[in-house]
Amino acid sequence: MNLKKFVSSLFVLFLLFGCSQRKDNTQIIQKYNAISKMMVRNALTERTGYKWLKDLLKIGPRLSGSPGNFKAVEWVKNKMKEIGLDSVWLQKCKVPHWVRGNIEEAELLNARGKKIRNLHIADLGGSIGTPPNGLVANVVEVKSFDELKMLGTKAKNKIIFFNEKFDYGEINTFKAYSKAVKKRVYGAIEAAKVGAKAILIRTVGSAYDNKPHTGNMHYAKDIKKIPAAALGAIDSDYLSDVLIHHPDYKIKLKMNCENLPDTISYNVIGEIKGSEFPNQVIVVGGHLDCWDKGVGAHDDGAPALQTLEALDLIKRLDLKPKRTIRCVLFANEENGLNGGKTYGKYADTVKSETHIASIESDRGAFTPRGFSVKSDKNTLEKIKSWLPVLNNALIDWVKPGGSGADVGQIKKVKASIGYVPDAQRYMDLHHSDNDTFDKVHPREMELGTAAIAILSYIISQEGL
Ligand SMILES: [Zn+2]
Repeated sequence: MNLKKFVSSLFVLFLLFGCSQRKDNTQIIQKYNAISKMMVRNALTERTGYKWLKDLLKIGPRLSGSPGNFKAVEWVKNKMKEIGLDSVWLQKCKVPHWVRGNIEEAELLNARGKKIRNLHIADLGGSIGTPPNGLVANVVEVKSFDELKMLGTKAKNKIIFFNEKFDYGEINTFKAYSKAVKKRVYGAIEAAKVGAKAILIRTVGSAYDNKPHTGNMHYAKDIKKIPAAALGAIDSDYLSDVLIHHPDYKIKLKMNCENLPDTISYNVIGEIKGSEFPNQVIVVGGHLDCWDKGVGAHDDGAPALQTLEALDLIKRLDLKPKRTIRCVLFANEENGLNGGKTYGKYADTVKSETHIASIESDRGAFTPRGFSVKSDKNTLEKIKSWLPVLNNALIDWVKPGGSGADVGQIKKVKASIGYVPDAQRYMDLHHSDNDTFDKVHPREMELGTAAIAILSYIISQEGL
């Protein structure tokens, strides 16, 4: 064969291969189109997960080590048994045990110590309390760690007020959050280094109200531990204004939160055993714990229950997955990630099974947008090719990106996937008193359930 002929036959082969791949994909789309529409219709009609959510949230907050956390573990375990999953079990893990206590007060005082008014605060998770009678100090406002360092000795014995605003102009609210959250996580360490007595941070959230967001904070070895709390957005602006005119005003902080010895909690796990390849596992999950402000409706009650309802939805439609679909509701995502780490270690070392995909739902339960995928290019392209089916649940895109804190702990997996709903309202709510049942819309939540069920079911049938 001469070179010209060789090249043209290669071209024909290439076209044939392309056509057959397209044909394959058309068949796959046809195969799952009707099923996916049934899933969407059933989820929207039955609202099963939404009803579960109402019930689960009656327990109250579910912070690691709290009575609510233990009740929630029992609730989920019973629900998994009730819906008839093939196996249900608990996976034990050690968790921190921080309690807020019942005193969480901030008073603005004038220079003579007379009370002007109360300020709305929320202790940061992991913070130590103040002395029993509280602490009083002058306040210094800064916008950044750089400004803090420039204060030098002026920071000594003061309450440092980190007043960096949430970037309202950033369209990606998670990006704005990750920028603003640094002062919450590391503020107490940086302020203690320059001799501060305590810190107040402008709440890390997008709502303009006086319901401050809590969240995890760190201390560092060999650096003094100082109390840390978040201040409401409205009060932050008020305080900033007051300090311009009255830099000699003080704040009295009184907090009785404390760190108790570590305790235990559990990942709650249930699965539908695969009919042909039971040792190939698709994990779907979210975290069961939540902060103790609000009741963790969007973070992460509804999203976690979407992943559980995905299994129920598959059962309701009498579908039989070829590969195992396993729901893991993780312990302790908020203040330690010990549930995710424990499961990840198990998944990466267990000899009898292979994890092919993991899907996390931990970004609220708003209208579906997409799936963010960490995998090799071919796997990503394969998942992308199912977009016309996923679109039945309003999924518009499949893109490379991060998955989630918990499933991200499973390292030996072909595809680590994050379910991505709309994120414009999430940062108004999470970790605050705003995160309650009335903020969850049944249609938005159930569309997410359907999206997760469709993707996990197709993976279970087609593999990756
Ligand atoms: Zn979360």
